[in-house]
Amino acid sequence: MIALPALVRAAERQEELVASAGHPQRCRVCGCTEADACEMADGGGWWWVEPDLCSACAGSPEQE
Ligand SMILES: [Zn+2]
Ligand SMILES: [Zn+2]
Repeated sequence: MIALPALVRAAERQEELVASAGHPQRCRVCGCTEADACEMADGGGWWWVEPDLCSACAGSPEQE
């Protein structure tokens, strides 16, 4: 007999905790995260401009 392992539920709970507390960074515009970052048009240069704003959504550097 194999009952649903408590480990599975524990793991799911762990993921929720990590998502909410471990790496809370998530772009407020596009919703991307470090694990699922935007693809930059120039093929690189993705970073956090602000804790909740990725470089893809920050506009061009010359924008004032
Ligand atoms: Zn973004
Ligand atoms: Zn992004």
